[in-house]
Amino acid sequence: MECVDYKKNLDECFMNKVKYSSGYFALMPVYGKKFVLDWCMNEGLMASSYECSKCGKQMNLTKQPKLNDGYEWKCRSRSKVNPYDCSRSVRKGSWFAGSHLSDFCREVCQTVLIEERTMIGGVGSTVEIDESKFGKMKYGRGRTSEELVSVLKEWVLPGTEVISDCWKAYDCLKDEGFTHLQVQHNLHFKDPETGAHTNTIEGT
Ligand SMILES: [Zn+2]
Repeated sequence: MECVDYKKNLDECFMNKVKYSSGYFALMPVYGKKFVLDWCMNEGLMASSYECSKCGKQMNLTKQPKLNDGYEWKCRSRSKVNPYDCSRSVRKGSWFAGSHLSDFCREVCQTVLIEERTMIGGVGSTVEIDESKFGKMKYGRGRTSEELVSVLKEWVLPGTEVISDCWKAYDCLKDEGFTHLQVQHNLHFKDPETGAHTNTIEGT
């Protein structure tokens, strides 16, 4: 595939999300949990105070060594109605809440792909496609060759060398103005004549 510097065009909000989220966890072992928490609170990335949802009093930031964050909000004023401590994650309501970094990264890629989409390939360029990345839609339904060709026509310039694993639907690509180097990767990863190989895309 073409190597495009998507980063500079990324929506700032999404970049910040990834930057701050990864930063939050990466910096903890370096600077200590309290330092990172204080910094996040000072920067307004996390709430620096909380009212207890049960009694309305201010909660206390309490050391909790067993937690990843090292701290959590706690209210210990119990009553007959609320017989237990009330606790709340320091990350609740912030970008870091329930942080799944891979989800953030996926979200960024999705945004980039949708917002920054341009046609790729062209004469002299090679585009690799992988049936397993392409064909499996929701509910495991495979794409028909017509659907595949229409997607390629939309996003891949005519004259592009298309490399794929060996799938019968690709046979029609030649008629659509694509040069298709068919690779049967079950037998060999590298086409002995063209040097084309599909294992690189699988590696990604
Ligand atoms: Zn309370």
